[in-house]
Amino acid sequence: MTTESGAFCTPEPAPRPPKAAEGPYARCVLCLEPTEYAESVKGVVLCPVCEWQEAQRTACSG
Ligand SMILES: [Zn+2]
Repeated sequence: MTTESGAFCTPEPAPRPPKAAEGPYARCVLCLEPTEYAESVKGVVLCPVCEWQEAQRTACSG
């Protein structure tokens, strides 16, 4: 997790852990909603909504 200051274009999204077929699911680090990822997944996990918002935030608008 890096917090670079200034504009930084990420050419492609960060690799995501594989989605879990069944629970228990890890909780989103931002909104604490259950994610699609297993609880055993290491690192930052985001729910689909926060994932989308992060993608919008880091997307290069041209
Ligand atoms: Zn979330």
